[in-house]
Amino acid sequence: MSDKAGCELHSDIERVVFAQEEIAAIVQTMGAQITEDYKDRNPLLICVLKGAVVVMADLMRAIDTPISIDFMAVSSYGDGATSSGVVRIVKDLDTRIEGRDVIIVEDILDSGLTLSYLIDMLKSRSPRSIEVAAFLVKDLPDRDCPVIPKYVGSHVPNEFIVGYGLDYAERYRNLPYIGILKPECYS
Ligand code: 5GP
Ligand code: MG
Ligand code: MG
Repeated sequence: MSDKAGCELHSDIERVVFAQEEIAAIVQTMGAQITEDYKDRNPLLICVLKGAVVVMADLMRAIDTPISIDFMAVSSYGDGATSSGVVRIVKDLDTRIEGRDVIIVEDILDSGLTLSYLIDMLKSRSPRSIEVAAFLVKDLPDRDCPVIPKYVGSHVPNEFIVGYGLDYAERYRNLPYIGILKPECYS
């Protein structure tokens, strides 16, 4: 039973954008690149909660060299599908990043507002390096993104997607694939 009338998990999806196998292949490729670039550097992977938790869990296991992990939570979106433009730190790191090679793991880069804010904040803590691994990057018509990720899993069209960690109103994060919601599922 769904707690919202007419809304279910799989039947709410109009179209699958990335199937599970495609996601797995993309993550393996990203992991191999990071392994190659960060051998003997023990990078710190920072997961930006909550959306990136799923790609983080898969990506860290696709990296075949020692790493450490930590988590941050920021909020840039409300419950809806549009950006509020407001970024707030909800949970900070436990780890000191001074002198560390940092990789921020993101689920999806849209306007880049969230990440750009985060990067500036983390740079003030003097890491040795700081890079971004974005599972998805949105293709925007007039993209003027302040952040250039070193690792990009794939590009997606400028549509609102859910699944594989990405939510709509905190739902659908547990979909093992990425899809587009039926219009009637937006309240
Ligand atoms: P940005 O600050 O780059 O505009 O937004 C980044 C965050 O917004 C992402 O980490 C993600 O949480 C959320 N977001 C951006 N685009 C989408 C989308 O298409 N679907 C979902 N579910 N979340 C998105
Ligand atoms: Mg995110
Ligand atoms: Mg969200």
